[in-house]
Amino acid sequence: MSRATTLLILGASGDLTSRLLLPAIGQLLRRQPDRQLTLRGAGSDEWSAKRWRDTVREAFASVDAADEAPRVAGTTYTRADVTDPTALAGLVEGVEGPLVIYFALPPAVSVAACTVLRDLHLPPETVLALEKPFGSDEKSARELNELLTEIVPEKQIFRVDHFLGRSTLINVLGVRFANRLIEPVWSADHVESVLVRYDEALALENRARYYDKAGAMIDMIQSHLLQVLAVLAMEQPADLDEIDLRDAMAAALRATAIWDDNPVRSTRRGRYTAGKIGDRAVPSYVDEEGVDPARGTETLAEITCEVRTARWAGVPFTLRSGKAMGDRCAEIVVTFRPVRHIPGGLTGTPTDGGVLRFTLGPDRIDLELNVNGGDDPFALRRDTLSTKLGKGTLLAYTEVLSEILDGDVALSVRADAAEQCWRIIQPVRDAWNRGDVPIEDYPAGTRGPAAWPTSAR
Ligand code: NDP
Repeated sequence: MSRATTLLILGASGDLTSRLLLPAIGQLLRRQPDRQLTLRGAGSDEWSAKRWRDTVREAFASVDAADEAPRVAGTTYTRADVTDPTALAGLVEGVEGPLVIYFALPPAVSVAACTVLRDLHLPPETVLALEKPFGSDEKSARELNELLTEIVPEKQIFRVDHFLGRSTLINVLGVRFANRLIEPVWSADHVESVLVRYDEALALENRARYYDKAGAMIDMIQSHLLQVLAVLAMEQPADLDEIDLRDAMAAALRATAIWDDNPVRSTRRGRYTAGKIGDRAVPSYVDEEGVDPARGTETLAEITCEVRTARWAGVPFTLRSGKAMGDRCAEIVVTFRPVRHIPGGLTGTPTDGGVLRFTLGPDRIDLELNVNGGDDPFALRRDTLSTKLGKGTLLAYTEVLSEILDGDVALSVRADAAEQCWRIIQPVRDAWNRGDVPIEDYPAGTRGPAAWPTSAR
């Protein structure tokens, strides 16, 4: 690592930068003593050099990386409208060596900045890192992809999905592909259903400006959980590199559609009402500051998809994510079909042939099996083999930044995959906009509308 990479953060005075990116940079530098980094920040707010340096220092300290702050002592903050060609040209001027431009901006501003970048001269190795949401529908995602590839080649475009970099998801690959017990049964012949859930105890947390226009389906399912589905459903790639892995994931997404092509029967949406999470009182979503109730934004979304391949036809993949839940629950649940025959003499009829569960943060794997040999040695009962995978020492964004700075795009979302995710949810958006699927209430602090099977857990 001889040459310093310049990391230029556009939107440096924003929430993502101070809360997620800067701590991740601190952690990354602590982990990589040889990494040379030049950090530049730019934003529309009038920040002094001192305020920026203090923000960097505080973020580093928050992850026990205060000692690394001197390694970016020369960091600069420039007040600039990044949609202004002269201002943006000034920000990239004089950069020598690899350049990463991180768009920590509102999505429309990112597009405007890219339109300007297209006409600027950039170092040939420039990497562009873009945040979700990537476009606002399939068409706008395609247009943005076209714009980006006019600036740099696809292998230098990093569409960030911090889920993909998470160790839990990487674990799915190992467990799925490296075990003779599991690899051969990873198909519709043996798997009955798959559930990907990301329920948060967090409520709106002052993010109405973004969230009230996005809602749970776009915030989580479109941008993250469909990528998880792709990892679960893809054919085995020869290699986990940027070509094989992303080819396999994109093929899985292309084969994915809403179950029965029927968004009315195959999707649900909910919105929290006033309640309590722990001892914290949470107002009704519609009473949160900045929310426009007329938008009818959902805070809980559930969609069931099918993956129309020989491997998966007939297996429901349910994706669900909600806010203001009683407890956090992030998991992948693979339920196996009941075996064809259980010998007479064993009592009890299991409802399934076992369950494999991946839990995110703290990461663990549970394998629920039907066993006997208890007090009544022939009575079947359920037991669970569990292993804790630990918390993972790195923040998700540290993993993301490490990949970006290494130019490793394998775990970022490829152009076509980003477009497919919008294509898959479009019929749901249409049905919800028409009002064909009612919004069901659930009190904050519960597990969602009581009638939903996934709320029972
Ligand atoms: P913020 O609104 O907090 O920050 C955006 C920053 O960009 C602000 O500092 C804003 O300045 C600045 N900005 C806006 N327009 C311009 C401009 N023309 N020139 C220069 N700077 C400008 O948003 P977030 O940080 O929350 O989000 C940024 C991106 O990251 C979004 O795409 C979001 O969806 C994504 N994201 C955010 C997450 C989060 O937890 N915050 C999580 C995952 C993704 P000003 O305030 O003066 O307008």
